[in-house]
Amino acid sequence: MKQEELNPFAIAQAQLAEAAEVLQLDPAMHTFLREPMREFHFSIPVRMDDGTTKTFKGFRVQYNDARGPAKGGIRFHADETIDTVRALAAWMTWKTAVADIPLGGAKGGIICNPRELSQGELERLSRAYMRNIARYVGLYQDVPAPDVNTNPQIMSWMLDEYEMLMGHREPGVITGKPLALGGSAGRTPATALGGMFTIREAAKTVGFALKGATVAIQGFGNVGSFAHKLAEEMFETKVVAVSDEFGGIYNENGIAYQTVVDHLNKTGKVVECPGTEPISNKGLLELNVDILIPAAIENQLTSQNADQIKAKIVAELANGPTTPEADNILNDKGIYIIPDFLCNAGGVTVSYFEMVQNGYQFYWDENMVNKRLDIKMTNAFRAVHDMSLSKHVDTRVAAYLVAVSRVAEAVRLRGWV
Ligand code: GLU
Repeated sequence: MKQEELNPFAIAQAQLAEAAEVLQLDPAMHTFLREPMREFHFSIPVRMDDGTTKTFKGFRVQYNDARGPAKGGIRFHADETIDTVRALAAWMTWKTAVADIPLGGAKGGIICNPRELSQGELERLSRAYMRNIARYVGLYQDVPAPDVNTNPQIMSWMLDEYEMLMGHREPGVITGKPLALGGSAGRTPATALGGMFTIREAAKTVGFALKGATVAIQGFGNVGSFAHKLAEEMFETKVVAVSDEFGGIYNENGIAYQTVVDHLNKTGKVVECPGTEPISNKGLLELNVDILIPAAIENQLTSQNADQIKAKIVAELANGPTTPEADNILNDKGIYIIPDFLCNAGGVTVSYFEMVQNGYQFYWDENMVNKRLDIKMTNAFRAVHDMSLSKHVDTRVAAYLVAVSRVAEAVRLRGWV
């Protein structure tokens, strides 16, 4: 049997090809949209605390900026590859299009394990990365943001480095900043909150009540932990399992968010949280729950486990958690997938609100941000859902149809293809 494709960029290209066929996309357009428009590779020497110098590898991929400045986060990950960054940059392009915000798609990455770096080393690495990308980013070029293992402090160092180099203040050059440096209210929980709005809409479509519904969440970083908090607060769902990279915890009667956070603050891990039993990653994904939320990294639902998934809804808060083979199996089982670049578009949507507020130097309260986010996410969900009904395609293909036609229109209007 043919080995399952796990290269994220090959997967992203295969997904695009499927949409191109349904759309009967002009082959020249398809060829153009299959590859990033620009990419940058850097060797980044950093002075370590012990006096030695270590060279890190960094990337920035500007996949497509036809609809506006390129936009996307920066990941710090030991397993980062250029193909992962390319795929994530492609997905950002489709994400900003499906959310209907006037931005393109980009992504950055550094191959590193941030857990092995001191705060000083992390700061020097972040500043050095910005020195490398500085001439290629900007309010009207490309605007970075946080992603896996990066956070508002790292955005602050990068902003400061950029502004020192350029000699002026330009807060909108980077998003996910702390409030004190021009961040937006509501940016930190935004990815999870946007996902909740799509879950609310999907549950209406599938036809079950969220109150008391069971949820399993893979990943307890910024996105997974806020998903737990919000699923509890907004809908009174019962989160029965969560996990982080060290392992998972389970309680069939539900696990309170605050209990996990208190334990995490003490131990740095979710495992051994009081009142829970351990569960494996595989066990968590295969639980008999109403909603499964992959909120970690790529390739978690594959041909190996898809037929064991029992959830009614898979809400993909991670980027690329499901392989195409798993997609087919889940769709055949009638599971409602909220595809990643729709489900997790809340983060970049509030990043866009952050850029708007930076432009006006006038800031909204969290209520206003969340209300506007709800409108954007609900409209995006509706556009994708209606497309899936009218074209008789699954939700992922439908999301591609919406996104690719919007990007292709901008490319055509510019006269590129
Ligand atoms: N890293 C987030 C994502 O994958 C947010 C990107 C942004 O705000 O630019 O959507």
